[in-house]
Amino acid sequence: MTIQPARGTRDIYGSDLRAFLFVEQTARELAKRYGFDGIQTPIFESTDVFCRGVGETSDIVSKEMYTFSDRGGESFTLRPEGTAGVVRSFISEGMEQNVPVKLFYAGPMFRYERPQKGRYRQLHQFGVEVLGAAQAQTDIEVLCLAWDLLGALGVQKYVRLELNTLGDAPSRDAYRTALVEYFSKYKDQLSEDSLVRLEKNPLRILDSKDEGDKRLIENAPKMTDYLNEESRAFFEEVQSGLNTLGIPFVVNPRLVRGLDYYRHTVFEFITESLGAQGTVLAGGRYDGLVQQLGGSAQPGIGFGAGIDRLSILVQELGLVPNAPRAIAAVPVGNENVPEMMKIAHELRLAGYVVEMAYSGNMSKRLKKANKINACCAILMGTDEFDKGVVTVRNLDSGEQKEVKINELSNALNEYRNLQ
Ligand code: ATP
Ligand code: MG
Repeated sequence: MTIQPARGTRDIYGSDLRAFLFVEQTARELAKRYGFDGIQTPIFESTDVFCRGVGETSDIVSKEMYTFSDRGGESFTLRPEGTAGVVRSFISEGMEQNVPVKLFYAGPMFRYERPQKGRYRQLHQFGVEVLGAAQAQTDIEVLCLAWDLLGALGVQKYVRLELNTLGDAPSRDAYRTALVEYFSKYKDQLSEDSLVRLEKNPLRILDSKDEGDKRLIENAPKMTDYLNEESRAFFEEVQSGLNTLGIPFVVNPRLVRGLDYYRHTVFEFITESLGAQGTVLAGGRYDGLVQQLGGSAQPGIGFGAGIDRLSILVQELGLVPNAPRAIAAVPVGNENVPEMMKIAHELRLAGYVVEMAYSGNMSKRLKKANKINACCAILMGTDEFDKGVVTVRNLDSGEQKEVKINELSNALNEYRNLQ
């Protein structure tokens, strides 16, 4: 039996990896432009970090975590998402002294899920977090960064932004009471999962994927009807900020997000172009989380973007920049190989992508140059070497010219933008 990758994991290479890195690098660069700094937290943490940070009743904690005891008998968990670890770090590294703190991360997360297209057990997320900033302006800026990221990837017109508010603690409590009252009337129709949610965290019912639950949810009370003045004003400020920036959105009063710690703004960017797994980026404000993990009363807001889903999307839409086209360095005879290697070395130092073709006869070497889709070939035989020149052949037009070896780097400038 050949060895296969573990279920829900995949090898990412070739054009898939190009798409993946296009998404990740675009996100990193953009976040820096918004004044964010990178952070890498460990891939595993004490299980407690996620139980407290994500919430016992969330899907993640209740059924998706990769938890294990190490040889010392302590319980650890492979991180299922990025926020809890970043907040743990914010507290344990003493960053609370220096707020606001703006951090971004990218890396693998692990969830025991039923694998399908766009849903993996090792998934990859890019995320940002702002800690210690309570104003609606921060929500607007974070949403703007998310919108710009989708713009930089070229997918803005394929996504819609859904926005909601969960209000502050008193508003959320009032809403919770209303939901319990409503759903209690339908206990006989609710799914088993939602019956548990009704006891532990009724808001979570709104996130249910069960068809029967969905029908009941349609007529459930709406959060917007239970907001106090302050929460309503906050939500209006966020919406008006988005309008000023020209960022389109729809308010979805059913949007609650899976995690326990959200307050006020919650949002998702959803596409219809990926089938069932349409949410490509999601986040919200999590005032209360820092305290829940043992820190001070610091507010927070952030988002997590699914790199896997975004890379499938940009690939399917043909938006991934082309692979760089190499320059093929082709020695005519075997005796010319060492000199050609030296030329290739110097061109690589000058920043060119160069691929040597030294196997087989001349025809095989030129075939290789075509196979790798080289933009041009540099040819050198003994005559040329004696004259101190090489022949540069444009492989698209077939045109060729002789160039002095010491002028080669400059002469190849026209190919730089293909690389
Ligand atoms: P879903 O409802 O699809 O399970 P979620 O609410 O669990 O999503 P989040 O925890 O908000 O997802 O994660 C942020 C983003 O990470 C998602 O919007 C999605 O793009 C991506 N993501 C989440 N789970 C997976 C997964 N198993 N495989 C691939 N991408 C994922
Ligand atoms: Mg999920």
